[in-house]
Amino acid sequence: MGHEPVGVIHDLADDVVGYELGERVLVGAITPCGTCFYCQNGQPAQCAGSEGEWKLGGGWRFGNSMHGVQADYFLVPHAQANLTKIPDSLRDEQVVYCADIASTGISAIEKAGVGIGDSVAVFAQGPIGLCATAGAKLSGASLVIGVDSIPGRLETAKSMGADVVINYKEQDPIAEIRRLTDGRGVDVAVEALGSQETFESSLRALRPGGTLSSLGVYSGHLVVPLEPFAAGLGDHTIVTTLCPGGKERMRRLMSLVQAGRLNLERLMTHRFSLEDISDAYELFAAQGDGVLKVGITP
Ligand SMILES: [Zn+2]
Repeated sequence: MGHEPVGVIHDLADDVVGYELGERVLVGAITPCGTCFYCQNGQPAQCAGSEGEWKLGGGWRFGNSMHGVQADYFLVPHAQANLTKIPDSLRDEQVVYCADIASTGISAIEKAGVGIGDSVAVFAQGPIGLCATAGAKLSGASLVIGVDSIPGRLETAKSMGADVVINYKEQDPIAEIRRLTDGRGVDVAVEALGSQETFESSLRALRPGGTLSSLGVYSGHLVVPLEPFAAGLGDHTIVTTLCPGGKERMRRLMSLVQAGRLNLERLMTHRFSLEDISDAYELFAAQGDGVLKVGITP
């Protein structure tokens, strides 16, 4: 298991050039090969690899199609395309979440084409939703709305860039979003949970012609309700995202951290050794003690 790693290069294949043993590197959760149909067509997250056969999850290999990174050593596939040196000025804890949650959350904003002055609502302020909130702020949105029901997460949303937070257990988020947008709805709604309810709420929060940017991984049933979808006449756009990986993506995200524009370390609410990893899983599964993300140090 595990797909958000930083590490030190212990060994290198002969054909991986430009790196040295002992260098500290970040590796994205998605490790594109760089040469397959999807990599060459600008969708490296959907990488089919050297075998050339696309599978659900695309280039997501760590903890999916190969062993994950919760170990003393891990093997990086397609290393030439996926090892990113960590600048000396940055600590591991500052950059490790570039590997997945920051890349994914910010990608939802990029996919939706959020621009200067846009209004954005992010449904669910878990780790990925919080990164979408940060991405919306970075992209020049003038109104960023974070929706959740956990007060601690709403507080973190404010510190990550939300102008307004809505606790959906206390307020009707759709009515409040309409009130904040002159009755129209937001330009972009981000679904960051993967449930029918949040998908539907995201659609209801949108203005006609708006974009629903879906991040959730859905299970069970997902249906598009006719009324908020304007029976198909609403000029809505629905886009989906799988975490972008690769070394250039990781370099760009780390440059945001280095420039002081993205603080991910605040999401690491708990730390465990590799020996105590079972306790970490129990804490995370129970969502105890305000946990957002757990850092594991082998
Ligand atoms: Zn590929």
